[in-house]
Amino acid sequence: MEILKSNPYQIEPLMTTDKIDLRNFNKEQLQQWISALGHSPYRGRQIFAWLYRPGITDFQQMTDLPQQFRDELQESAFISSLPIAAQEVSTDGTIKYGLQLHDGLLIESVLIPEEERNTLCISSQVGCAMGCAFCLTGTMGFSRNLTPAEIVGQISAIQRDLSQRQAGRITNIVFMGMGEPLANFDNLLTALAIIMDELGLHFTNRSTTVSTCGLAPRIIELGKRFRVNLAISLHGADDETRNKIMPVNLTYPIAEVLEACRQFPLPSGKVLMFEYILLAGINDSVGDAQKLAALLKGVPCKINLLPCNEAPEIPFSQPSRNRVYAFQDVLRKAGYTVLIRISRGADISAACGQLANKSKQEQKGV
Ligand code: SF4
Repeated sequence: MEILKSNPYQIEPLMTTDKIDLRNFNKEQLQQWISALGHSPYRGRQIFAWLYRPGITDFQQMTDLPQQFRDELQESAFISSLPIAAQEVSTDGTIKYGLQLHDGLLIESVLIPEEERNTLCISSQVGCAMGCAFCLTGTMGFSRNLTPAEIVGQISAIQRDLSQRQAGRITNIVFMGMGEPLANFDNLLTALAIIMDELGLHFTNRSTTVSTCGLAPRIIELGKRFRVNLAISLHGADDETRNKIMPVNLTYPIAEVLEACRQFPLPSGKVLMFEYILLAGINDSVGDAQKLAALLKGVPCKINLLPCNEAPEIPFSQPSRNRVYAFQDVLRKAGYTVLIRISRGADISAACGQLANKSKQEQKGV
């Protein structure tokens, strides 16, 4: 791993301040905050646009604001950014970034370069409380939610790194890093508003994907606020199997999750994505594939099959190639679009379900 700081995993606060981080506001919230200071909401809109221009870290750079107003902002607010503490490049070109938070904790984001796009997988929490049995992030436990500024800060920091290396632009955002985004709901909503605002980070809803393990009521709530792509971590075709590997299923069983999915308004022309990790001997038989085909009947969707990434901490193994193809075959014959997702970045622990293990161990001094 290329370490950019002498000890990026040390748990020491970078900064403590009583000032307000303006990157925690979406445009409307910022306009309200500026109004409460006695200024025109238009100023809030102006500042919001500055916040997401490349290289803006200081109010003095906002040259169309009166000097006195800039000084006033300086007194009460600041503009956060996330330093890149560590960076690791996979043999397949995937880059895993370690980003340091103000309290010294570390999160990970993964950039997946492809021919025509650069997808950034971002985190929504430090650790995760959902406890999925096949996921290393789940074994970390939960530390805290990320703020909106920390969620969008991952995108700004990594875009800055790409620009410095003239390596192109991030084209797609997926919430598939550390954490369950719908368990950090209010901050997710604020972050999505910033990500998709044309004065903010300006990603389209078609290039933004929220992934969830199945918090059914929040899927419905999210659909009332935003029309974005939705990915469901399904990983089991019946409640009995899913209960064993995903504790969330005890609260929100499959039927409830699918009902919430049916109500979710996707961007036009888009379909639901179901993620299905294949665990040898647990959920990978032809019978499981037949159950899955029957379960999703009539749901416009794509299915991604993810052969399990083995790790010493995880009590599961990867099915044989023949078993994976046989599973795919059943679904294809039933008329589904099914992709076997080759794990990107597995050699640097950046593949699905592998995030944060190493950093957490190093935070603990393991
Ligand atoms: Fe959390 Fe997602 Fe891992 Fe489940 S798979 S423990 S929801 S990060």
